[in-house]
Amino acid sequence: MPELLYRCPVTGQELSLGISVDADTFEKAEFDYRTIVCSKCGQQHEWTKEDVYLQVPPEVDRRTREKKQGPDERFSGR
Ligand SMILES: [Zn+2]
Repeated sequence: MPELLYRCPVTGQELSLGISVDADTFEKAEFDYRTIVCSKCGQQHEWTKEDVYLQVPPEVDRRTREKKQGPDERFSGR
């Protein structure tokens, strides 16, 4: 099952939130503000659903992003 990832705003590095969730559940889930003590920079960050994303294999990831975001400049060539 994919894990939720968060990108540290200080270091720009990804870290796992230690939460495994499948894509369907994540789509439907609602998250309150939560906090994480960041293993990258040592600070505490607040996060919501919009700040996190699922770790998925690259191929699936590409399709998911395309579907989710719809047309944007990265896909305008097609
Ligand atoms: Zn951090």
